[in-house]
Amino acid sequence: MSSHRQVRQLTDEQWQAITQNDAGFDEFFIYAVKSTGIFCRPSCKSRDPKKENVCIFNDAAEAIAGGFRPCKRCKPTGLRLPDEEWVIQIGEYIDEHFHEPLTLEILADDCHGSPYHLQRTFKRITGLTPVEYIQKVRISKAIFELTTTDKSVAEIGLSVGLPNSSYFITLFKMKTGQTPKQYRKRVMEVQINGEEQ
Ligand SMILES: [Zn+2]
Repeated sequence: MSSHRQVRQLTDEQWQAITQNDAGFDEFFIYAVKSTGIFCRPSCKSRDPKKENVCIFNDAAEAIAGGFRPCKRCKPTGLRLPDEEWVIQIGEYIDEHFHEPLTLEILADDCHGSPYHLQRTFKRITGLTPVEYIQKVRISKAIFELTTTDKSVAEIGLSVGLPNSSYFITLFKMKTGQTPKQYRKRVMEVQINGEEQ
């Protein structure tokens, strides 16, 4: 027996089982999705992945060894994931996808739970709603870009997932008390004049 775990090639039959949520194949393989880092049983009702992102494994242990995490919805390891671990997965998903359009529905779909359950669990464990956490990540990335690049406010908004400039400015001001321009100006002044008086 080879000591290397072989990731199997996706066959047409497997792809069909995945897209049709065919429970008849649950005993035979597990599929992981590279873009989300999560693995599922073929029968999982989660949104169909992109075909090119699918990796096939013989079982859950192989998928875990390959660096993937079990799906909350179909529980491919046969164990219920603790909520804390799920919330970490959701947080990591947001950290990686903050620059894309993110709604509670998209989040719930990609993190494999209902929007209602995801919202409640996330808030209970982190104290923030998923949307508040997304905003927090976006504003902290925006602050980083404002103070380390000379990109325009509109460009920065776009790069942190807030392509509507006036909404970006409003949200930024709500969270920091200053507009992005004011924030940048103040940081520049501090850099030029040394310590603030
Ligand atoms: Zn699943």
